[in-house]
Formats: sequence, C-alpha cells, structure tokens
Amino acid sequence: MDGRRIDELRPLKIEVGTLDKADGSAYVEHGRNKILAAVYGPREAHPKHIALADRAVLRCRYHMAPFSTDERKSPAPSRRELELSKVIREALEPAVMSEYFPRSTIDIFIEVLQADAGTRCAGITAAALALADAGIPMRELVAGCAAGKVDGKVVLDLSDIEDKQGEADLPVALMPKSNVVSLLQMDGSLTEEEFKQALDMSVEACRRIHEMQREALRHRYHVVKDEADKEEEATEVNA
Ligand code: ADP
Repeated sequence: MDGRRIDELRPLKIEVGTLDKADGSAYVEHGRNKILAAVYGPREAHPKHIALADRAVLRCRYHMAPFSTDERKSPAPSRRELELSKVIREALEPAVMSEYFPRSTIDIFIEVLQADAGTRCAGITAAALALADAGIPMRELVAGCAAGKVDGKVVLDLSDIEDKQGEADLPVALMPKSNVVSLLQMDGSLTEEEFKQALDMSVEACRRIHEMQREALRHRYHVVKDEADKEEEATEVNA
C-alpha cells in the first residue's frame, strides 16, 4: 500500500545505548513502529525463590504505551501483552549464555511507543541488541521480521493496514549464524507452498536486519572508543 516491492522491508533505524541508566538498551524504528528496549542484569534474583542453581532466569515484559495506537490502549497488561512477553523471551533465550550467571536474573523491558504491526519482531530485534549492549555473553544476535499474505500474494513485513486487510501474518525470529528459528507463529491461513514462501522471505529479511544490527553495534563501540580516547587525551593534557 505504501509502494514497497513485495519483498521490500519497511525502512529501519537502529540505535544502541539509548538509555544511560539501563545496563543495556536499544531503540528501533521499523516502519512506523518505534520501540525501546532496556536490559537490567545479570543481577541478584528477587524474589529469591525464582532463582535457578544452574543459570540466570530471563524475564521479559512487552508493553504497548497507551498512546502507541490510534485508539487509546489500556495501560493494564492485556492477554496479548502477556503472550508476547512469553514468546519474545522464548525467542531470545537460546541466544543468551545464561549458564554463566546462576542464581541471577536478566530483565528485558520492551516498550512500544508507536505500533504499526510487527512489534513483536521489532521488539526482538531491539531486545537482542540491548542484551548485547549490557555485555551479556550471547551465542549470537536474534533478528525478527514477519511476512504474510495480502490480496492473494505473499508479502514481506506487513504494516498495520496491510495486516488488517491481509489473509495471514507469519512472525519469525532467526539466529542467523546457527540458522535457528526461535519464533514462528501464524495468524490466518496459508497453503503449504505459501507458508514456505513466507518463511523463506522472512528468514531472508531477518538476515538483512542482522547485518543492520551488527552495524549499529559497531557504531556504538566506535562512539564509546572515541569518547574513551578523548578522555585519555584530556587526562594527558591535564597531567
Ligand atoms: P504485532 O505487533 O507483533 O504484529 P499483532 O499482530 O497482535 O502483533 O498486532 C498488530 C498490530 O495491531 C500492532 O502492531 C498494533 O499496531 C495493532 N494493535 C495491537 N493491539 C492493539 C490495541 N489494543 N489497540 C490498538 N491497536 C492494536
């Protein structure tokens, strides 16, 4: 509807280290989605009884701001938000080396500031970067993107209007190096052939998003290095 090709991603903007106070953070604009992710931890588990002896517990809260959609969304957690918090956590868990941090928790907060379909996928893209920014050892990053069917055609990365008018939506998250799909859901109906086509399309898009994630992380560390160099120079001058 916005003139994109059938396999064209909506424009993406990725920033790592947006929040000073969180241990790790990232901000992702994916089309008209605007999503902030913050990570705290690993830190001591509270309440203590949730702690695991052999690894860290990952907790995830996906939340849509009341002003994120056209109609005011209730700020109270909905069933949808509970479900998305769970599937996002499960999509990230295989990438996190939680065995390094027994008896601790890693908390992931995903705040959707503006929603335009595909927020669970963009939330995963942002949260994986926030985890990396927090210095949490990971096997690899995780990237998310959905494909679907509109007007009888399999298309990539549906916006809200396309999603509402479409016949199916297939959100996917991928760990690109090991080729592991860590999230796969489907809403609507597709033939087996269309399903394969949609899966291939979203996996390929996740790979493209992964490149952008790596670029955003690299940029973050160049900025940190430049700041450290400047501080060192200033110390030398003062000395
Ligand atoms: P995703 O955002 O992962 O695609 P859904 O398919 O459940 O998840 O939602 C599609 C889109 O529908 C959301 O991105 C958002 O734009 C819109 N939406 C979801 N929940 C609400 C709500 N409670 N009020 C208004 N719009 C909503």
